[in-house]
Amino acid sequence: MVPESAAERLAAIRAQLPASTQLLAVSKGHPAAAIRELAGLGQRSFGESRLQEAAAKQEELADLSLDWHFIGRLQANKVRPVLQRFAWLHSVDSLALAERVARIAGEEEVCPKLLLQVKLRPDPAKGGFVPEELRQAWPQLRALPSVQLVGLMTMAPLGLAAEQRQSLFGDCAALARELGLDQLSMGMSGDWPEAAAAGSTWVRIGSALFGPKPLSPPAWDAI
Ligand SMILES: *Cc1c(COP(=O)(O)O)cnc(C)c1O
Repeated sequence: MVPESAAERLAAIRAQLPASTQLLAVSKGHPAAAIRELAGLGQRSFGESRLQEAAAKQEELADLSLDWHFIGRLQANKVRPVLQRFAWLHSVDSLALAERVARIAGEEEVCPKLLLQVKLRPDPAKGGFVPEELRQAWPQLRALPSVQLVGLMTMAPLGLAAEQRQSLFGDCAALARELGLDQLSMGMSGDWPEAAAAGSTWVRIGSALFGPKPLSPPAWDAI
């Protein structure tokens, strides 16, 4: 049975998460009031993927002290406003983008936590470093000033079986270990149990927490 209230859904997920896995509540498409409700239940970390939508909600929720994570595709021309609003970026998917983030972070005098997005299986729908690219770029990435490289983020392609997803998440964990990174952003509503079992430190859960989207996507389309 699907729990009916956000409080019940939050409690059910919390009860199943390992102690080492944190919940990132993905609030894209959901109004500020829904975020406020979860914040009232102790949820601090929220993920958004569209700048304009996030900015409006952040202003409405400025009285709360929340941690905001940017999880959407990061466009080069949005780096500065994203850095002004988010302390965590889960979707840094190229060396050029990381260099730009570092330069602008220096100008803005911030030091964001970055997770590098990796693509561990062929997937035309998704961006990310393939492992070889990441190993090659690693010396330049780790030398970047003004950013903290804390981990890797990945998404499983649609259509994988549970054991294939768990193996993919295990590969991501192994790559993070190889690079000495300790944060792993893996797992969404449909696959977070496998990700948590593979060592995810951040599961990014939207629909299983907030329920179906009340806002029509087109309203939020323009970034
Ligand atoms: C929307 C989104 C999620 C959450 O997806 P759900 O299936 O609703 O849990 C997680 N990660 C990213 C990058 C997303 O864009």
